[in-house]
Amino acid sequence: MAERIQNYINGEWVDSESGKTFQSLNPANGQVLADVAKSTVKDVRRAVDTAKAAQDAWRLTPAPRRGEIMFKAGEILLARKEELARQMTQEMGKVLNETRGDMQEGIDMTYYIAGEGRRLMGETTPSELPNKFMMSVREPLGVVAAITPWNFPLAIPTWKIMPSLIAGNTVVFKPASDTPILAARLVEACIEAGVPAGVLNVVFGPGGEIGGELCTHEDIALVSFTGSTEVGKKITGTASPQLKRVSMEMGGKNAIIVLNDADLELAVEGIVWSAFGTSGQRCTAASRIIVEQGVLEELTERLVARTKSLKLGDGLQSGTDVGPVINRSQLNKIHEYTKIGIEEDKATLLCGGEIATEGALADGCFYKPTLFGGVTPEMRLGQEEIFGPTTAIMPAKDYDDAIRIANSTHYGLSTSIFTPDVNKSFRAMRDIQSGLVYVNAGTIGAEVHLPFGGMKETGNGHREAGTAALDIFTEWKTLYIDYSGTLQKAQMDD
Ligand code: NAP
Repeated sequence: MAERIQNYINGEWVDSESGKTFQSLNPANGQVLADVAKSTVKDVRRAVDTAKAAQDAWRLTPAPRRGEIMFKAGEILLARKEELARQMTQEMGKVLNETRGDMQEGIDMTYYIAGEGRRLMGETTPSELPNKFMMSVREPLGVVAAITPWNFPLAIPTWKIMPSLIAGNTVVFKPASDTPILAARLVEACIEAGVPAGVLNVVFGPGGEIGGELCTHEDIALVSFTGSTEVGKKITGTASPQLKRVSMEMGGKNAIIVLNDADLELAVEGIVWSAFGTSGQRCTAASRIIVEQGVLEELTERLVARTKSLKLGDGLQSGTDVGPVINRSQLNKIHEYTKIGIEEDKATLLCGGEIATEGALADGCFYKPTLFGGVTPEMRLGQEEIFGPTTAIMPAKDYDDAIRIANSTHYGLSTSIFTPDVNKSFRAMRDIQSGLVYVNAGTIGAEVHLPFGGMKETGNGHREAGTAALDIFTEWKTLYIDYSGTLQKAQMDD
């Protein structure tokens, strides 16, 4: 039977004031998993008002105490890791090992941030005047709107909610409409850990209808968004005129570069994992494979063989390599790109390129892992984010040409290079225009204690994760204490 998922506002699970609901479906078989509150602007206003009212008490709760609550939330998530990973596979499709990884990333972030409760470091520095002390401290911003996508339904919300809370902010959480169940599970863990009423609120419902209020409400101090560049630009346009802080983590068109001297076996494994893991639905998924001429033929042959060997299926079944994509409309969009590749771009379809309809796959949203060859930077396949199990092989003349191709998109999230040449590796680390660079590894697999984010149209200059995340979720305050007993004037000649 379908579960009922309600909003959580002011410490209570409540229906939308409209009484309307929408459904959450299993993309592997179309089964209805939940009826979910379909919120309105009024629900959003209530949630923001509640978060605003709760902020003062939360701000004044000592940060180490907030950290203890976060730590407990981590313990609860760890105890439920397997159960929630299974629910996540049902709700968004990726295979069980990957949903376990999503859970672990959320747990890691929660533990990591809990420790910040005893740090949240500022600076002290000597004054230019005698008998004067000065320091900087981090302060909360107020109410944070956390808007998240469906591809990491637990990890990405923790990247926003946990740093917000540790800093003393309160939160209105708007998860993706495709993954409400995991969002509710995360909120439940926080409540059980002791997050007080009003401090964390969740509203479900279509971003296109209720997102505007979240971005313009006068009591929202920060809009922290992860999702597509298209929606991110819209939100920035709405929230920025009111001088709200906006932090954007958006799309990618990530590349793996394979040089002539690369270990091809390692490169093939890295490419397959990065291109087809999570059915290619990671912001860091590799959708361009830039290959130096000397190994183009051999790498292509090996990749085609390996891609054809991947088994599509329900992510809960053992032996499944690639699960379904998130929904029908995304399935159709991915297939449109195959048509664009063949008809408009005149690229060579090497394998895949079809909606899978064999047996039980017909009931779900399955797309055959797809490889194109002969793709060049000006083609749409070489520029646009597809967000599915489709990747494009792009020939390069030499190292310089490979770097030029890698940097030829508007995005700049993750790039990797396979080569044992230390000189070329270091040049690549310097020359590649992306927020993450991997050497002899795929484009996916970020760890929570270093900054995460992208350059160019992938982001707007902020970084999540690591201590860098605190710069999004806190405001600096500088304090000067003069204990000289005289009026000392800084910068005056006498
Ligand atoms: P999306 O369509 O942009 O949606 C993201 C979130 O924004 C959802 O909660 C959505 O709600 C909401 N939303 C939609 N329209 C809105 C509006 N007008 N105002 C406010 N909120 C609105 O992205 P997605 O399909 O969920 O996720 C895939 C995208 O996320 C890809 O482009 C991927 O690259 C990107 N991504 C980036 C990162 C990163 O760190 N850079 C990480 C993961 C994913 P509804 O679900 O109700 O529409």
